[in-house]
Amino acid sequence: MKYKKRQFYIENVSAERIARKFGTPTYVYSYDKIKNNIYNFKKNFKSINPLICFSVKSNSNLNILSIVNKFGLGADVVSKGELISALKAKIKPEKIVFSGVGKTIDELKFAINKKILLINVESENEIIEIEKIAKKNKKKINIGVRLNPNTDAKTLKKISTGKKENKFGLTEKKFLELLYKYKKSKFINIICLSVHIGSQIMSHIPYKNMLNVVNRIIQKSKFKFKYIDLGGGMGIQYENNSNKLNYAKYNKLIKSFLKKNNSKIIFEPGRSIVGNAGYLISKIIYIKKTNSKNFVILDSAMNDLIRPALYGAKHRIVPSKLNKAKILKKHEFVGPICETTDKFLNVANYQKINQKDIIVICDVGAYGMVLSSNYNLRPKPAEILVNNISTKIITKRQKLINII
Ligand SMILES: *Cc1c(COP(=O)(O)O)cnc(C)c1O
Repeated sequence: MKYKKRQFYIENVSAERIARKFGTPTYVYSYDKIKNNIYNFKKNFKSINPLICFSVKSNSNLNILSIVNKFGLGADVVSKGELISALKAKIKPEKIVFSGVGKTIDELKFAINKKILLINVESENEIIEIEKIAKKNKKKINIGVRLNPNTDAKTLKKISTGKKENKFGLTEKKFLELLYKYKKSKFINIICLSVHIGSQIMSHIPYKNMLNVVNRIIQKSKFKFKYIDLGGGMGIQYENNSNKLNYAKYNKLIKSFLKKNNSKIIFEPGRSIVGNAGYLISKIIYIKKTNSKNFVILDSAMNDLIRPALYGAKHRIVPSKLNKAKILKKHEFVGPICETTDKFLNVANYQKINQKDIIVICDVGAYGMVLSSNYNLRPKPAEILVNNISTKIITKRQKLINII
């Protein structure tokens, strides 16, 4: 959080200025924060020299992808649209991996045509389709196979992906079966084992359990994988004083894993690269006072930022201008949408705020704008990139005329 003279700043531009210049609600990203997050991520895993593929689904803005490319990351995509965007941002095909349980034949063909590094398959039927395409094109295609390690990521239930009841990946038995089955295939080359156990993971323990399972299965398979794709999921601090993921411990676990398995590590981080670099600037429309609490009704809503409504996520909401008056009453920040779940945050008390004041919803760089919709026929917000004192519109605010 950066306040200068009691005013909230994103790099060297105040939230007030952004609201005045571009209107609200507006997503704002800090170039510096993205750059530093990438730098830190690289530094944390320097000793294992991984290929880092940014998870495009967390933020697919072309300008953001260009920054990610500029600082040397590849991309993890989950649709043809994301693949096209990654290529458009000049990310090299040999740094792109394609994940997802339901890639269509059209998507597979497109990815194969573009010669991306890996398609991470999640079912036998998907391998069969890839084999057909490979046969037609008379080439051998590199794939990864996603394992479901049945480990608990100890995160929100709705963003866990590595338990056996989740749709993702293959069970140990099926995984091993496919390895043997396709070992001598003329068209399929299994070069990667991939896992991704969930998102917003705050402890290295789930990763430790995951690595233990992966190691055991590799030993059992006697297979040599050129790549081990460990997915993403590194959590960020959404609340003051929350735990931090211990990267040093995770790195150490991977180092000892690599002593037994000589492979290149791939990561697919999304949230940890862009999450804390994004802000949603909003204006207070009304404050509705009741006996038990004050409803602070914002001009942003669940169509702009759905994480609180979708999985009970908490985002700090801070005033753009600090004052010393404290109102000792429960405040509930809500949007104008006609849904009870259109609610951002409850706080025990808050500083004095008024109608038309600007507030800032923090840490919305990942799974924010990408999940926005036109529900209630509301136009999607603008996106602004801040770099030092400069501001640049990277997505124009939608106009009603274009959605009606
Ligand atoms: C969503 C996803 C990621 C990124 O997860 P983060 O929590 O944003 O790091 C990586 N890999 C796969 C396969 C995913 O589905």
